[in-house]
Amino acid sequence: MANFKTHYNVGLISGIISSASFVSLSILNSLEGILCLFLWVIGSISPDIDSPNSKPIRMFFYIVSVIVSCSFFFFSMDMFYIIESVILAIVIFFILNYMLPIIFSKFSTHRGIIHSVPFAFVIGFFISILLHKFFNAKDYLSILAGVFFVLGFITHLLLDELYSVDLSGAKLKNSFGSAFKFYDYKQPFLSMLLYIILLFEMLILPPMDNVINKVWNISNLEYLRDNFFPSYIQSFF
Ligand SMILES: [Zn+2]
Repeated sequence: MANFKTHYNVGLISGIISSASFVSLSILNSLEGILCLFLWVIGSISPDIDSPNSKPIRMFFYIVSVIVSCSFFFFSMDMFYIIESVILAIVIFFILNYMLPIIFSKFSTHRGIIHSVPFAFVIGFFISILLHKFFNAKDYLSILAGVFFVLGFITHLLLDELYSVDLSGAKLKNSFGSAFKFYDYKQPFLSMLLYIILLFEMLILPPMDNVINKVWNISNLEYLRDNFFPSYIQSFF
């Protein structure tokens, strides 16, 4: 099993490469790129919330709680009186920082349902819906932010699987197959529940046409061809 530092470093490097590519292709602007990078890194650490008592994960809960409750406060002031926004933000902080870790430590097992691909999509789609409906983010940004979270999450699952291979003895450890999975046979009810939530989320996802047009654009390839190498190197081709 890869440790926290490894997950963080791999998440950060792969996230920088991906978000920088999207910014250089003008699919995202710089600020949007930073948001997506942040979500990728958060995704790459998230699966280990099923070990909420470890020090780095406690810190992770704290940072996420501060960011989510502050964001809620700033964006909810149009909807509530200021004092109501403050109280709700404090309640959100309390739930995320104190109650959620207790729930996870009581009801989840390490490498259980949280270490799975459908869980990544449930949270990723939730982020897309939240950004679009609550924070009024543009549809393409909402979708990409969710996708970046999912991809960061998947780097974690794949890294865990990679560490399950004992390369010195060229054999598989017992933990192989317990991270990158689509269904947890030990928790069939929860696994089914995840797929049902996914179906509901898909009904209210932001529209996809814009993001598809932006990403699957032939001019992206042409831009990369013309801008990847400096002109003095291109002249050699
Ligand atoms: Zn893990």
